[in-house]
Amino acid sequence: MKLLKGTKLYSILTGTCPVCHEESMYIESNPYKLGKVYKMHERCSNCGTKYKIEPSFFYGAMYVSYAVGIAFAVAAFIISYYFLGASLLGGFFSIVGTLVAFMPVIMRLSRNIWINLFFNYKEDTGKAYSDE
Ligand SMILES: [Zn+2]
Repeated sequence: MKLLKGTKLYSILTGTCPVCHEESMYIESNPYKLGKVYKMHERCSNCGTKYKIEPSFFYGAMYVSYAVGIAFAVAAFIISYYFLGASLLGGFFSIVGTLVAFMPVIMRLSRNIWINLFFNYKEDTGKAYSDE
């Protein structure tokens, strides 16, 4: 994972600050604590990046979550139908099961992808980094 540091993939997979990659954006690291799945820090305590650019910023992540959900669904179907030899109905249920089981992960991945569309990694973002 450390090898990926500095790439958007690192921030997306780990949920770290999209600018400095040093700190988690989320207060609770386990997405399966559902009451806290969306609880995020206001800004990065390392570089000061404000995550929520505008009040409804993360609504856009919904659109990303459709795409991520479809990717998970396709993967679940291919694995169950082609590799595990499930029936079409079995494939369908594995899609539903996968989407339910991975929902918190999908929700967070979508946010991570979304925020990484707006921020870029900057090296050496210390305390000097200003708000805007
Ligand atoms: Zn940061």
